[in-house]
Amino acid sequence: MIILKIGGSVITKKDSKTPLLDSENLSRIAREIADSSYDKLIIVHGAGSFGHPSAKKYAVGEKIQNEDDFERKKLGFCITQNSVKNLNAQVCEYLRREGILAVSIQPSSFVLTKNKRITHANLDLIKKYLDSGFVPVLYGDAVLDMDEDIRMAILSGDQIIEYLGTNLRPDKVILGSDVDGIYNKNPKKYPNAELMHVVTSGEDLESVEGSQTTDVTGGMRGKLRELLSLAEMGIESEILNAGRNNLIKRAINGEKGIGTLIRSKNRE
Ligand code: ADP
Repeated sequence: MIILKIGGSVITKKDSKTPLLDSENLSRIAREIADSSYDKLIIVHGAGSFGHPSAKKYAVGEKIQNEDDFERKKLGFCITQNSVKNLNAQVCEYLRREGILAVSIQPSSFVLTKNKRITHANLDLIKKYLDSGFVPVLYGDAVLDMDEDIRMAILSGDQIIEYLGTNLRPDKVILGSDVDGIYNKNPKKYPNAELMHVVTSGEDLESVEGSQTTDVTGGMRGKLRELLSLAEMGIESEILNAGRNNLIKRAINGEKGIGTLIRSKNRE
C-alpha cells in the first residue's frame, strides 16, 4: 500500500487570495499516477488557496471569544468546508479522466479532533474501498473538535497522512511539495539553504518554518512533525518536488532518495 500526499502548494496557486487551481500540475500528476504501478493507493491532498485564506479570515480553529464570534467562525467553517470539497471534486475528476478509480472521502464527515488532533476516525470504509480496487482521495478539511474552547479545527492533509500511516501501516508514504525536500533552512528565503537527503530529527534543521504563503496548518514545520512521528513507528516517508516532471511517478514505482527521506534514528 502506498499513501501519496499532494501538497496544496502544487495543485493550487497557493499565493492566490481566492481559490485557484493549478490545472497544469494537477493534470500532469494525474497522468503520472495513472502511468505508474501500485497495488493499493490512497491519495491525500492539501487545501492550498481553497482552504487557507478563508480559514484564516474567519480564524476557524482558534479560540472562540463569544457567541457572535462563534457564529462567525461557523460561517467560516461552512465556507472553508465547501471550498475544499470543490477542490477535491476537481482532483477526483482529473484523476478519473486518466482512468484512476478515484473516490472522494470527506474527512469532516467521519473525523473528530480534540485540541486539533484526530481522536475519532473509522477507517473501515477506506479499507473496503481499497479492497474493492478504488483509490480513496482525502484532503485537508475543516472538522468538528471536541474541545469546548475551539469546537472546530482545520485538519491538515499532513495530519491525515500521520493518522492513516499509523493505522494502516503502508509500505511507503510519499509527499509531493513545491520544494525539492527539506532544507537546513527555508530555501525560499535563503538561497544558500542546503537540501538534506535524510532527516531523523527536528534538531537537524536550523529553521524549518511554516510556508511563506497563508498556511494555517504549519507549513514544512507541521509536515516534519507528522512525518517524524510516523518515522518513530517505523514508517519511512519521502518528501519530493511534485512540481518536477515524473518524480511522483518514479517514487510510486519504487525509486528512493529522490528528495528527503524521513526515517527514525534507530534505523539509520
Ligand atoms: P504543501 O502545500 O506542499 O503541503 P507547504 O506550503 O505546507 O507545502 O510547505 C512547503 C513550504 O515550506 C515550502 O514552499 C517552503 O517555503 C517552506 N519551508 C520552510 N522551511 C523549509 C525548509 N527547511 N525546507 C523546505 N521547505 C521549507
